[in-house]
Amino acid sequence: KDEVNIISGALELHKKTVADVMTNIEDVFMLDYEAVLDFETITEIMKSGYSRIPVYEGHRQNIVTMLYIKDLAFVDPDDNTPLKTLCQFYQNPCNFIFEDITLDVMFKIFKEGNKGHMAFVSRVNTEGEGDPFYETIGIITLEDVIEELIQSE
Ligand code: ATP
Ligand code: ATP
Repeated sequence: KDEVNIISGALELHKKTVADVMTNIEDVFMLDYEAVLDFETITEIMKSGYSRIPVYEGHRQNIVTMLYIKDLAFVDPDDNTPLKTLCQFYQNPCNFIFEDITLDVMFKIFKEGNKGHMAFVSRVNTEGEGDPFYETIGIITLEDVIEELIQSE
C-alpha cells in the first residue's frame, strides 16, 4: 500500500545522504555570470525546462547565485542584458549544505521553507598543495527527497 511505502520511506531517510541522491554538478544546467541574455541564451534556458538555474563565476564548482525563470519576465532579448545585471538586481539567496547531510535533515530544512527548495551540495576539497577550499559537487531539490520517500518498497 502507498501509505506503508511512504512511512517506510520516511523511516529510511536518515540512511541516505544528499550526495547519494543529488544531481551531479556536471549534469546541472547552469549559466556563466558573464553570460549575455540574448535570444540564443534565453531560448536555451527555456528549452532546459528548469525553473531554477544556478549561476557560476569562473568555473562550475563556484556557484555565486541563482536565477529563477520568473526573473526573466521583463527581459527583452533585443536588449542583450548582461546576466550580471539581473543577478545584482534580484540577489536570490543560495543555500549551501554539506554532502554528508542525511535526507531526513534535508527534508526538515526544505519543509521550514525559508531557504527555498533547492540547495547546493558542497564539500571541502583538501587535495593538492594549497589551502582547502569549498567546491560544489551537486544540487538537491525537494523533489529529489520526495522521490526517495515514495519510491521505497
Ligand atoms: P519545478 O518543478 O519547480 O518547475 P524543476 O522542474 O525545475 O522545478 P525540480 O522539480 O525541483 O526542478 O527537480 C526535478 C529534478 O531536476 C531534480 O532531480 C533536480 O535535482 C533536477 N534539477 C533541478 N534544477 C536543475 C538544473 N538547473 N539543472 C539540472 N537539473 C536540475
Ligand atoms: P569565509 O571565507 O568568510 O569564512 P566562506 O566562504 O567560508 O566564508 P560561509 O558563508 O562561511 O562562506 O560558508 C557557509 C557554507 O557555505 C559552507 O557550508 C560552505 O560549504 C558553503 N559555501 C560557501 N561558499 C561556497 C562556494 N563558493 N561554493 C560552495 N560552497 C560554498
